[in-house]
Amino acid sequence: MKPIKMLDLQGQRERIQDELRLEMQEVLDSAAFVKGKKVVEFQENLQRYLQVKHVIPVGNGTDALLISLLALGLEKGDEVITTPFTFVSTVEVIVRLGLIPVFVDVCPDTYCIDVNKIESAITSKTKAIVPVHLFGQNADMSAILSLAKKYNLYVLEDACQSIGAEYRFENGNKQFSGCIGDVGCLSFFPSKNLGAFGDGGAILTNNDALSEKARCLANHGMTERYVYEMVGMNSRLDSLQAAVLNVKLRYLQGYTTKRQWTASLYDKAFSSSEYITIPKKQACSEHVYNQYTIQLHPSKNRDVFRKQLEEKGIPTMIYYPIPLHLQSAYSNGRYKEGSFPVSERLARQVLSLPIHTEMDEEQIDYITTTILSLL
Ligand SMILES: *Cc1c(COP(=O)(O)O)cnc(C)c1O
Repeated sequence: MKPIKMLDLQGQRERIQDELRLEMQEVLDSAAFVKGKKVVEFQENLQRYLQVKHVIPVGNGTDALLISLLALGLEKGDEVITTPFTFVSTVEVIVRLGLIPVFVDVCPDTYCIDVNKIESAITSKTKAIVPVHLFGQNADMSAILSLAKKYNLYVLEDACQSIGAEYRFENGNKQFSGCIGDVGCLSFFPSKNLGAFGDGGAILTNNDALSEKARCLANHGMTERYVYEMVGMNSRLDSLQAAVLNVKLRYLQGYTTKRQWTASLYDKAFSSSEYITIPKKQACSEHVYNQYTIQLHPSKNRDVFRKQLEEKGIPTMIYYPIPLHLQSAYSNGRYKEGSFPVSERLARQVLSLPIHTEMDEEQIDYITTTILSLL
């Protein structure tokens, strides 16, 4: 059996090495390392793939979120609703801009924002909702969009983990993750479903004015050469990363299918275990499994269990061990232990298993058999 890795970027790269070399060599030959033709090509390829009007490539997913909030024109003291059970970036950018993060707990089975708890968190200062499509599955966007409409709020999707996950509306319409709200954000960090060989990110929107503003903000707020109408920043996807992403985008559908196949084998093996809760798939959303995250029964000691798995050659990770409202940087006096019981419980019980594009049946079999026999 091949050694099991949490993520196998080496194996993935080897399969497409020749194509990568060609695309990257073109960038080296052109010496257009910033704002080159490869970036425009990638932008157009991604627009086509996601069927979205505008893609603004930026330096990373965190910048995508930051620039989106700026482009929406949010101001100091405005409240932004999101969850405490997410990667830090979602909340970091809110606080960085002097906005106030208002947390809403997540659903115990999907890990996404609990839409039944949003309305009571809305105040006269609320300006935006930031749903995080955690681990690769869309939050309940229909409910979020109707709340946003009722209270006149922006919707900024953190789609950093969910590229390509289709959302299905009740009327049969479908849209890709990140293309549903006013604006959406992607990350191309190497471990994401579409990963570069370094940092990268993108802003998605169907709104022309927002797109123009975001593009301008990402390029120093420059409207014409050396003319600045707003205070911007420097956040650009570089051409070498765009070259890598152009190649990998051709394979993204296959990568997704592979992740879904792995997840289906895990589901099948674990669904009857009384000690494991498998991640729930909602009817309204495809799941692209950036992570496959189970919940371990509270009678089991997760950290001991992890160690046992590690001894058997099975790596695991905990996403995320401490909810953000309990982090000293983000507790802001509003919240305490017990404020978000679902997020707090998940932080104690979740366990993410290896899932990537290079897994084989023998490895999955070994993982499921070992886990079931240890429990
Ligand atoms: C990865 C990630 C980000 C940040 O992306 P970077 O490219 O690492 O800056 C933001 N939100 C979520 C949910 C993520 O998983």
